[in-house]
Amino acid sequence: MRKLMSKEKINKLMDNLNQRKINSYYAETFEEAVDEILNLIPKDSLVGIGNSVTLKRMDITNILTKRGNKVLDKTMAKTKEEVRELKRKSLLTDWYITGTNAISIDGHIINVDHSGNRVAAMIYGPDKVIIVVGENKITNSLEEAIYRVKNIASPKNAKRAGFNPPCVELGRCVDCKSPDRVCNSLVIIEGQHDKDRMIVIIVGEEEGF
Ligand code: SF4
Repeated sequence: MRKLMSKEKINKLMDNLNQRKINSYYAETFEEAVDEILNLIPKDSLVGIGNSVTLKRMDITNILTKRGNKVLDKTMAKTKEEVRELKRKSLLTDWYITGTNAISIDGHIINVDHSGNRVAAMIYGPDKVIIVVGENKITNSLEEAIYRVKNIASPKNAKRAGFNPPCVELGRCVDCKSPDRVCNSLVIIEGQHDKDRMIVIIVGEEEGF
């Protein structure tokens, strides 16, 4: 079992996020993170969901839907057309909830995307964005975060989504030109213009790739 991060490091991350005009909360467990999300989001808000193993574990789509929120989650779509529609409509929601591939202690938020809808929504569109991150995705530097995204998260996400680029077999990135390449956008969020827009919920447990 991986040793969880010290309080000192978590505080340093939260302080660095604050300096980048990104708000943050600490939750001991994913259950606490769900409670925090329910407190933050009004019941009448329209919510978009970025595809994420972490959010699936939290069952956040069903929980929000049951209490009355209208939720746009592409993983609930039945057709390719519906997936496309939900991705597009999620760009104009009141709130957008997503995981992240990595976050550095310095406060860089790093993501790789296949079609780009998730990173697009993180950057601009939804009024507010909540990013949920387990401690296993916190790295000591930006370089380590990018390494993590390319060599740990992307191969696993490719496999999960049914693609077969070379990293699935090799377990590391070779910057492929495969038609199955899942890394089409590498995005580093370094701060926010609006200090009330982005909230990172750091969870003291491990989840996701
Ligand atoms: S660029 Fe290709 S090899 Fe590298 S992680 Fe992405 S899909 Fe895998």
